[in-house]
Amino acid sequence: MKKQTLFFWISILILHTTLSYAQDESSKIEVTKISDTIYKFFVNEFVNMTAFIGPDGALLVDSGFEEAAGQVKSILSTLGNSDIKYIINTHSDYDHIAGNRSLREHALIIAHTNCRDQMLKYIEPSFDLPFDKKIFEEGMPMITADDRLTLYFNNQEIHIIPLLGGHTDEDIIIYFENEGVACLGDMIFPDSFPVVKIENGGSVQKLLENIDTLIYRFSEDDILIVGHGRDMKSGELKEYRKMIVETVEIVSNAMKAGKCVEEMKKENVLRHWESWNSKLFPEDLNTDSWIETIVKSLNNSLQNYLRLSDEAYQSKDYAEFQRLMLKIVELAPQNYRYRYNLACAYALNGDQQNTINTLQFLLDQDYDLALLAATDSDFDSMREIAEFQEITNRIEEKTRPLNNSSIAFSIPEKDLIPEGIAYDPVDEAFYIGSVQKCKIIKIDKQGRISDFAEPRQDDLVKVLGLRVDVERRYLWAVSSYGFYSPDIPEELLGTTGVFRYDLQTRKLLKKYMLHREENHMLNDLTIDSNGDVYVTDWRIPAIYMISADKDTIEKFIDLPRRPNGIDFSGDGTKLFIAGGGIGVLDISSKTFRELKHPVNMYLSGDGLYYYQNSLIAVQNGGLRKVIRFYLNEGQDEIIRSEALEAYHPLFNLPTTGALVGNEFYFIANSQLRAYDEDGNLFPLSELEETKILKIELQ
Ligand SMILES: [Zn+2]
Repeated sequence: MKKQTLFFWISILILHTTLSYAQDESSKIEVTKISDTIYKFFVNEFVNMTAFIGPDGALLVDSGFEEAAGQVKSILSTLGNSDIKYIINTHSDYDHIAGNRSLREHALIIAHTNCRDQMLKYIEPSFDLPFDKKIFEEGMPMITADDRLTLYFNNQEIHIIPLLGGHTDEDIIIYFENEGVACLGDMIFPDSFPVVKIENGGSVQKLLENIDTLIYRFSEDDILIVGHGRDMKSGELKEYRKMIVETVEIVSNAMKAGKCVEEMKKENVLRHWESWNSKLFPEDLNTDSWIETIVKSLNNSLQNYLRLSDEAYQSKDYAEFQRLMLKIVELAPQNYRYRYNLACAYALNGDQQNTINTLQFLLDQDYDLALLAATDSDFDSMREIAEFQEITNRIEEKTRPLNNSSIAFSIPEKDLIPEGIAYDPVDEAFYIGSVQKCKIIKIDKQGRISDFAEPRQDDLVKVLGLRVDVERRYLWAVSSYGFYSPDIPEELLGTTGVFRYDLQTRKLLKKYMLHREENHMLNDLTIDSNGDVYVTDWRIPAIYMISADKDTIEKFIDLPRRPNGIDFSGDGTKLFIAGGGIGVLDISSKTFRELKHPVNMYLSGDGLYYYQNSLIAVQNGGLRKVIRFYLNEGQDEIIRSEALEAYHPLFNLPTTGALVGNEFYFIANSQLRAYDEDGNLFPLSELEETKILKIELQ
């Protein structure tokens, strides 16, 4: 079911209290004359509606509560004309449309197309409403506007102007230009923080744009009738806008400083704006709720821009890609990964000077990801340019190998293409999964190699994350067929699940599969001391859990980005999750946040392992490092990092590893990219033996 919005429920609560007396007594309507022809009705001390009356009949903006309809009509006749010709709904909230069906008679109801669509959603059987759905059903708009409409009525021009995306994605305003009066619905709450329904398509930035439109369009003295509260003069919009701009800036700076919503509330970062706490709805519209709204809205637009920039890049619309990257960098200037992408955008658009400047800046800041520029094809057009060659020389210097590790053992099977590795301290054995062969091998204490699970045994597909439950003697393996390979039947594409094997008997005990059609791709996993398993879904970003009690796989939490490596903190209360950053998930409160870190540090990791208040990450892609990130005491921040191994000559896409006492063993050369365009593995002659390296940890 769709989440109900704040005012949806406020309206209903009020409605029930009013209904109880509205049965026998009449509703309370307070009428205010705004101009010669326009009256404001304040219905049941809650919502405003507007009546425009003239020789042709009456036009209503919004229709209030149904039980007030009779009274609305009698007031209209005392005002001179109760023949309602039009009802215009500013948006679909209950308190603005509930009078539609009783007042409509032969009136035409007008609303934005999205408003009607929303009303249609409310009447779907799956949607729970605490009142009669007929209120929506019998009060549906008959004329919908996607664009501006002008109505010629009572010898006046009435402008119906959509202003979407601020409060919701269905708002229209109604402007009686000759009268100098406009009805704004719930776009503005006078003397109060606004209501921005992000789940209904609203955003703070868009609201600001919409307010700018109003300021531009209206004369200073125009009277603005809003959904709730006193009338405003158009001139007051500037002050309102200023309040939004200033509060957004404060909250966005706090976000950039890595503060979460709770910290901002605790520090009361908006304390100087407390006079904007709503007198009408103090519980719902106050500095705390406004902080929440801004954070949600900024995150939402960043996510939107990221998605759109990705699409623009994929479709090679590089001008658009650059435009979006500029917006993204503006929203998150501390994120150097976005800056690197902006450098790519500059290069793709042939802007040499900005490309050089941006890369130099990143290298000056010692930002690791800048090293990718040496091999990234986005910079191909730059390779002949002297200044760019200087940059690649600097990169070469910075990518000198740092070798601390030694070869632990090799696996002669060149076409193994391993991804996951696990260690069992009881038998002193390693387990390694094969992406190519769809099997799991075991390397025992004596170094003997055997198939633990044979190719495609139990319908195994590509084997990714592996972990040993030492106590219960299980081997847990992720099996995921996320990308097409001609060696695996195509009908299995999309198969993803977790397999639990008995370490002793090598028998499959159970598999935990996700729905194939849903396009998941489970990746890595970890186990807590209770035997509960946590798995990352890389494709539809989420953490899944197999609790030892329930013994089924269930979603634990959605994530804002694609997760990869995962491991528990020492005390088992938190999960650290890598992939496009490293975040920490508090298990009991189910809250996820990115780890704070110095701006120039690039947090990533394929495999991720917790070791003595630090995290060991295997980085691949262009960086090719095993890196140790040291945590602060509160484990919410990385304070420094140390490369353990970098640019080892044996590296060919290192993936994951396993802790063995004070040593870290890891796969140096997965060869995961040793496939041609059609997904065929390179011939054996071009492949290497798998090398497992080990590093002593200090
Ligand atoms: Zn309202």
